[in-house]
Amino acid sequence: MDESTLTFLRRVYRGHYFQHHNLVGIPSQIQAREFGYIPFGGGMIRHLSFKNPGELVAELVKQAPSSVYCSNAIYERPTLQMDEKGWLGAELIFDIDADSIPTPCKARHNWWYCSSCKKGGMGAKPAKCPKCRSPALEQVQWSCRECLNATKEHVKRLTDFLTGDFGVSEQAIRLYFSGNRGYHAHIQDERFERADPQMRAEVANYIRGNGLSLRLSPQDSKTTGAGISLGWRKRSDLFITSKASAYGKRQTQKLTEEIITANAALIDESVTTDIHRVFRMPGTLHGNSGLLKMRVEGIDSFDPQRDPVVLGGEKVKVHVDFSPEFSLNGINFGPYDSSTVQIPIYAAVFLTARGLGQILAG
Ligand SMILES: [Zn+2]
Ligand SMILES: [Zn+2]
Repeated sequence: MDESTLTFLRRVYRGHYFQHHNLVGIPSQIQAREFGYIPFGGGMIRHLSFKNPGELVAELVKQAPSSVYCSNAIYERPTLQMDEKGWLGAELIFDIDADSIPTPCKARHNWWYCSSCKKGGMGAKPAKCPKCRSPALEQVQWSCRECLNATKEHVKRLTDFLTGDFGVSEQAIRLYFSGNRGYHAHIQDERFERADPQMRAEVANYIRGNGLSLRLSPQDSKTTGAGISLGWRKRSDLFITSKASAYGKRQTQKLTEEIITANAALIDESVTTDIHRVFRMPGTLHGNSGLLKMRVEGIDSFDPQRDPVVLGGEKVKVHVDFSPEFSLNGINFGPYDSSTVQIPIYAAVFLTARGLGQILAG
């Protein structure tokens, strides 16, 4: 990334944290958390600790980092190396990302990029860059309203598992937009706080329907009487009832797969099982998009292309190497192919923070 773009990004992020430090989601038990951040143009710095919210916010304004992280775990000694920290417990966290939800639209908007000569193109990456012959091309995931809506559907499925199957109260589920293309659910339920990675893996596998075997007889469920069926059993009964005419012609295995596809929440199990991870901190800017990781109160009304846009709308001049169309704050931008444009700060950050362009004047 060139120096003028780095300077621009640092200035915008610093200005944001200076003006909007009230948005930063201060974690509970702040002194027992491990913090980390990635500076623009630098590598991850971890094992930090802050005594109080004021100290944390002052550091954000001073460093203007690209990304800020906080542990879901609480530790006796958060600044020491992992095996010396003294793990005391960790909130249960789920991550659902648009990239991992299979949607047909992906084939239309995935694209590739050559970091050597900055050429890009739509579709699957070719073996070599057609311009400079470099073989090191990057396949880029992009998202549209269709895949963002599909991601919401999986969030709702997750909430249904947590409340219906695990008895988590709705108030205990804190849902956040990740600042990029997904959602994080932080579960404030003491029952899970001391859970080890194996137990967290069992919860994650259940929700994903991994290794699920169902006894698929609609007769059974009727005879268990009074409509009492729970968990995956209930989901499978509902599915079979709704597809009654098709049932009976299908193989059990195929039907099981269909039931799982129609009901499982595709959470990232590696996130849920890691009890020493640092997570993007609520109320901070995503380092690749400039969008806010923010609390989502109602998933249906949340607009991931509008609500997390918190940076300014003043126009800046940018050279964009390549970008397909995208929508932010109700405005459609692009597509761009080696274009010089005047666009709002939030759109300029969205592109340049990903390395897709350079600031010419800002
Ligand atoms: Zn190239
Ligand atoms: Zn899409």
